[in-house]
Amino acid sequence: AKTTVGRDVCLYFSKEMNQRSKTQLRMEGQLHRAIERGELFLEYQPVVDMSTGRISSFEALIRWRHPELGLVTPDNFIPMAENAGLIESIGDWVLENACRQLKAWQTRGHDHLSMAINLSPVQLRKAELAENIVSIVEQTGISPGSLTIEITESALIQNLDTAVSIIDRLSSVGIRVSLDDFGTGYSSLSYLKRFPIDIVKIDRSFLQDFPSHAHDTAIISAIIAMAHSLGLHVIAEGVETEEQLKVLQNLKCDEIQGYLFSRPISREQATALLSSPSNIRRQVWAAGSNDK
Ligand code: C2E
Ligand code: MG
Ligand code: MG
Ligand code: MG
Repeated sequence: AKTTVGRDVCLYFSKEMNQRSKTQLRMEGQLHRAIERGELFLEYQPVVDMSTGRISSFEALIRWRHPELGLVTPDNFIPMAENAGLIESIGDWVLENACRQLKAWQTRGHDHLSMAINLSPVQLRKAELAENIVSIVEQTGISPGSLTIEITESALIQNLDTAVSIIDRLSSVGIRVSLDDFGTGYSSLSYLKRFPIDIVKIDRSFLQDFPSHAHDTAIISAIIAMAHSLGLHVIAEGVETEEQLKVLQNLKCDEIQGYLFSRPISREQATALLSSPSNIRRQVWAAGSNDK
C-alpha cells in the first residue's frame, strides 16, 4: 500500500509540475512577445522635494497589459523575466523609454526634472550593463546627472564585485545611484562609505506603523542622520499620511514619495501634474506648517 501511495504521490506531483511548467512556459513565451506587441508600459510616480514642494523626479515603474490576464504588476513578472533570460531586453526597453520620456519633459521646460529606474539583481551580474546604460543616455541626449539608477541593498550584496564596478563606472560619468528598499537587506551604513552611492531610499515597511511605533521612528531618524553625515540624500518611500509627512519633515528627510501625493500615473497624467506643481507645494506646506 505504501508503494502505491508513494507512486500516486509521485504521479500527482509530476503532473502538477508538468502543468505548472506549461503555464510558466506559456507566460514566458507571451512575455517574450510582449515587448514587440507593445504590451509593456511605464507608469511614473512623482518624488517630491520637501523644501520646495516641487516634483524633483519621477520613478519609472513597469507594467504589463496582458491580453487575457489584464494588468500584471512587476512583482508578478520580473522574477519570471529574470529566470527566462528576458530581463536584459526588458531592462533596455525600460531605460530607453524612461530616458526618452524624460528628454521630452525636459524639452518642454522641466529642465531640472530627473528620472529614476529600477535595476534587477540579475542585470547587475554583467559588467557590460554600465556601457549599455551610458550609451542609452548618450543616444537619448539627457544629461547623465538627470538619471538615477535604483539598486536594492540585497542586489548590491549578492553581486558585490560586478555591482561595484558598474556603480563606479556609472558614477564616473555622473549618473546617480540610489540604494532602494534601504533597511531591509543585510548591509549596514558602513557599506555606504565604500561605494559611490548618492541616495538612500528608506523602505516603506518602516513607515507602515510609523509614527505610532517609537521604534520605527528611531530607526528612520537614525538612517536619516547617518546618511546626511555621509553626505547622502534621503528619500522616504510609501508616504501615505499627513502625519508621516510631518514627522519626516521634522527629521529633515529630503524627499518623499507615496500615495499621499500620487500613485504611479500615466505619462499623460504626469505631464498634466508637472504643469500644476503649486497644488503639491500647497499640500506639503499645509501638512508641514503645524508643528515645525
Ligand atoms: P520599488 O522600486 O521599491 O517601487 C516602489 C513600489 O511601491 C511600487 O510598486 C509602488 O507602486 C509602490 N508604492 C509607492 N508608493 C506607495 C505607497 O504610498 N503605499 C504603498 N502601499 N505602495 C507604494 P510596483 O510598481 O508594483 O513595483 C514593485 C517593485 O517592482 C519595485 O519596487 C521594483 O523593485 C520592481 N520594479 C518596478 N519596475 C521595474 C523595472 O522597470 N525593472 C525592474 N527590474 N524592476 C522593477
Ligand atoms: Mg525603486
Ligand atoms: Mg523601494
Ligand atoms: Mg520595493
